[in-house]
Amino acid sequence: MNSTVYVGLGSNEGDREAQLVSALEALSRIDAVAVLRCSALFESAPVGPPQPRYLNAVVELECSLPPQRLLCILQQIEKDLGRLPRDGRWGPRPIDLDILLWPGELVADPQLQVPHLELHKRRFALEPLAELAPDEEHPVLGLSVTQLLAQLAPQDVQRLEATWWPETPSPVTES
Ligand code: AMP
Repeated sequence: MNSTVYVGLGSNEGDREAQLVSALEALSRIDAVAVLRCSALFESAPVGPPQPRYLNAVVELECSLPPQRLLCILQQIEKDLGRLPRDGRWGPRPIDLDILLWPGELVADPQLQVPHLELHKRRFALEPLAELAPDEEHPVLGLSVTQLLAQLAPQDVQRLEATWWPETPSPVTES
């Protein structure tokens, strides 16, 4: 069965633009996944120790995999794009892929929580997500993405105009 999934992309090490595009291409090459839409790009201040600023976006996927399987694939893409175990939780990383929201799914496993546990605290995830799914409801908090954003304090997150990024409405096609 196909479901819609929202995945957050972030990069703050190396060629951020190239890594985001490579992650998008890797996602669109997976048989069981189709990239439906992309948010605009955002630039955000890092959380944690001092490190370069992030580029962030959210993509809407159609996916016929179970959540754990999608997580494995995202982790493999992170590895393929040069992410090392030393990058840790708060360190800089060439690419970070998170399952943010999966309408109809609630996962609370030790290695995977959906919705992402930090989603409601992070403007760099909510702002791009709001471009794709403003009315989608957080199944635990019972608030829409728009309502979650409205209750969040300002954070250093800026929307970018980037001609090289395939921000939709137009669907992403494989090259
Ligand atoms: P991060 O450093 O943010 O990439 O976190 C990676 C760890 O978060 C991995 O060990 C995942 O198992 C775990 N994790 C838990 N929930 C999620 C989620 N919704 N999306 C991606 N990683 C998750």
